Amino acid sequence: MPDVPKPISVDDYRARVGALVAATPVTPLPLDQCVGLVLGADLVAPVSLPPFDNSAMDGYAVRSVDVAGAGGTGGPVELPVAEDIPAGRTDVVPLLPGTAHRIMTGAPVPPGADAIVKVEDTDGGVELVTIRASAAPGTHVRRTGEDVTEGATVLRAGTVLGSPQLGLAAAVGRAELPVRRPVRALILSTGSELVEPGVPLRPGQIYESNSVLLAAAVREIGGETTVLRFVPDDVRAFHRTIAGHVDDVDVLITSGGVSAGAYEVVKDALSGQGVDFLRVAVQPGGPQGSGSFQGLPVVTLPGNPVSAALSFELFLRPALLAAMGHTVIDRPRLKARSAAELRSPSARRQYRRGYVEGDVVNPVGGPGSHLLAAFAASNCLIEVPEDVEVIAEGDLVTVLVLD
Ligand code: AMP
Ligand code: MG
Repeated sequence: MPDVPKPISVDDYRARVGALVAATPVTPLPLDQCVGLVLGADLVAPVSLPPFDNSAMDGYAVRSVDVAGAGGTGGPVELPVAEDIPAGRTDVVPLLPGTAHRIMTGAPVPPGADAIVKVEDTDGGVELVTIRASAAPGTHVRRTGEDVTEGATVLRAGTVLGSPQLGLAAAVGRAELPVRRPVRALILSTGSELVEPGVPLRPGQIYESNSVLLAAAVREIGGETTVLRFVPDDVRAFHRTIAGHVDDVDVLITSGGVSAGAYEVVKDALSGQGVDFLRVAVQPGGPQGSGSFQGLPVVTLPGNPVSAALSFELFLRPALLAAMGHTVIDRPRLKARSAAELRSPSARRQYRRGYVEGDVVNPVGGPGSHLLAAFAASNCLIEVPEDVEVIAEGDLVTVLVLD
């Protein structure tokens, strides 16, 4: 019997993978490339918002005193329309007492005017306007700086940039933002049995799927990927394939070839080269490897599709999110009642696929690490702790919400 070392705990292995991947540098990127990335420096507004007093309504800019009696017992007020101010008009023409300017939403309120009468309260006149309502000072005027004062910090470093934050950055006149750039992952699938879609399967062959799943998982969190599929179980071919890519990426993620059988290409290629192969006390996904090959962080995942997916979820996803500056790197957790009995091996933390709705979780499929369709039909993982071997129907379990 070979001497089998004690498996490392899920939490310790997660910390180990987390320490492997360095933070990506802060670099300016155009706003359309910043979605989901983390802001690398405070954003100070170079202009106020609004940048000038402007009209909140289509209507007429007036002096409130000139329309004070309108609509009351004195009847409507008539004013000559001296100017027409569409949105985008950039010259400044003051409003003279006893006149009105026709004005559109977003157009600058002329100096001298202190209120807007909305068009619905007038006859819409072009040369002469009949005004049927009074307007207190400030009515329908959007004041300079009401939203943002020039020089104010509007977004803090560390903010995750979603659509509202990017809209705000554009509104204060920015075309780019300093962000932690996307992590660059090289994804490599090994296995001589793997073929590409479109090719008819011969006996013993399967379609390669791990690289597609893993690349999508990296992209879902904002990373970038280079994918090398169909690497045969051949050490020289493996090294030939990665040569030339080592300097371009932040992390190499492989799948397959790390367990205890013969032809374990990843293990054979990287053992003694800075990558440690070990067992993690987890099901599925026990055989793992990680380390640094020629200075490149490497995480080698087992080949079974659900093992590869779960290993990414548990170890790489938090590591890559942290490298991109995220502070929220964990999936939301909740407690739910299991709708079925579950069995789990002792001394290993089991992650079962499940579908949670409200406070009930239905296990989807069995524990097998090849059951990809069950994984695709699930929306959560059920976490069964190391010291629990049976979950009875109705027991409370911890659930990691995946979507
Ligand atoms: P391995 O870890 O290489 O022993 O592979 C374990 C199982 O996962 C085998 O049944 C493989 O055929 C399968 N497998 C490995 N890599 C992939 C892949 N990229 N896509 C689909 N299945 C795979
Ligand atoms: Mg293999």
